[in-house]
Amino acid sequence: MVYRQKDFNSPPPALTHLKWNNLKARLLIEKSSHKISDKCYRDCTLEPLSALYKDKCAICERLRGTELQVDHYRPKKPRNNKTKTLYNNPGYYWLAYTWSNLIPLCSKCNGNKSNKFPIIGWNDLNRISDHNNVLGLNPFAPYSLDWLQQREQPLIVNPEYDTMPERHFSFNRNGKIVGRTAEGVETIKVCKLNRKDLVWERLKIREDYVNAIKSAFDDFGIHNDENELKGELRATFKQIKLNCHPDQGHSYYNLFIYKYFDYFIDAKLPNNLRGVSTKYFNEFIK
Ligand SMILES: [Zn+2]
Repeated sequence: MVYRQKDFNSPPPALTHLKWNNLKARLLIEKSSHKISDKCYRDCTLEPLSALYKDKCAICERLRGTELQVDHYRPKKPRNNKTKTLYNNPGYYWLAYTWSNLIPLCSKCNGNKSNKFPIIGWNDLNRISDHNNVLGLNPFAPYSLDWLQQREQPLIVNPEYDTMPERHFSFNRNGKIVGRTAEGVETIKVCKLNRKDLVWERLKIREDYVNAIKSAFDDFGIHNDENELKGELRATFKQIKLNCHPDQGHSYYNLFIYKYFDYFIDAKLPNNLRGVSTKYFNEFIK
């Protein structure tokens, strides 16, 4: 996950168009029984959200393009399971059409997250359950992401509020993402960030780098040309570096590979290439 700077005060004009005024007024009266219009929240925001996130899932960083869906960070509908768990919540109906509550997710993260919204200290008193239940406060408070985040302390990391969302996560060599904080652990659990397809994608990224490096040494074995070897290795190292850019798919995972090259890459190379490739990599990063 990487930070995305969204201007909460400049929602897409289509989302604030006058034609939705009646719908938005009904929402505040009908509350959780309101039939939410995806023509409003989804159709007006999918394109600008995809542009902001460079076609990536806000949580798992897969490049999904047209498969992206618009998710309500705070679920629009309640979760009323009989057994009370931290996943029960009253639903945040009033945020159904609110720009700061909409994030683009891949279908799998969206499906897994569903209407779960765990918070720290998950009793009913800590939940904001109604747009009117903060009497005495600024009436816009329950619409402010800043206010809500501080009041509720969610366990799902928000890439638009936390300016360093990556601090909650790290990766290991098996393609697994690891939580470094309670929020990181819970986000991984809820969105199932160690599901098969994601682990496979991460392992494939690393394997492609390893194979490119092996191939450079194979060419060296044939041509015995050190300049050629250096050139080929530099091309791969440069690719890893480019893929660390926050606009690239799995950018934070790539950053781990870049920062811990010997752990992720060197260890996967045949014994005779270990150390040698790290030597060239260290020259490159200088
Ligand atoms: Zn995802």
